[in-house]
Amino acid sequence: MTLDVAWAQRWVRRTAAVIGEHKNELMELDRQIGDGDHGENMNRGFTAVVAKLDALEEPPAQVGDLLKLVATTLMSTVGGAAGPLYGTAYLRAAKVAGLDELDAAAVVAVLEAGLEGIVARGKATTGEKTMVDSWSPAVQAAQTAAADGAAPGAVLEAAAQAAEAGVLATVPMLATKGRASYLGERSVGHRDPGAASSALILRAAAATAADPDLGTAA
Ligand code: ADP
Ligand code: MG
Repeated sequence: MTLDVAWAQRWVRRTAAVIGEHKNELMELDRQIGDGDHGENMNRGFTAVVAKLDALEEPPAQVGDLLKLVATTLMSTVGGAAGPLYGTAYLRAAKVAGLDELDAAAVVAVLEAGLEGIVARGKATTGEKTMVDSWSPAVQAAQTAAADGAAPGAVLEAAAQAAEAGVLATVPMLATKGRASYLGERSVGHRDPGAASSALILRAAAATAADPDLGTAA
């Protein structure tokens, strides 16, 4: 599978569908350690992204153009902590994706840029029970897979699996960043909602790279 702008569009559309399907679950996770709005915020954001894509007369020319559209739309529609964090992630990712298609190294670069954006914006490190705890293992797994010669789709698969494991690893963590940190010890024992939505995004990337029928507009 070629990871070109057509794939990136399927990735984004698939993300919107999956975020919609998991909206209530993300709300419930955020009710446990936050204010319960994460599912609604993310669903509003990705619904707006799809509406913008549907309204375009010309599809985005390159992966980077598409990711930039996602970034600006999420920044203006998601709100909360996650809006600026994801907005910055997609914006940084867009800058390294000014290519017609992503090879394994470019996939790694996109994921690294996304993580750098989240860290630049939120100043969290691993172990603080945030979306960094999905992204950081995902980036590491992607780097390892690419260094082992994996194809771009396999790099994404490695990233998605590591992100999903990262979500589970947030359960015993004590939140020290974001709204969940207000709960102190009571933040322990729950999955972090932002880590969970991040894993959905990365899983959508891997799934659309593996299956050309996923994320098509129809
Ligand atoms: P809010 O907390 O403003 O209601 P959301 O509910 O949309 O925002 O998003 C909450 C998620 O944002 C958390 O689960 C966590 O993953 C992420 N988050 C919050 N603060 C930070 C931070 N400083 N760095 C990284 N991620 C963060
Ligand atoms: Mg919230």
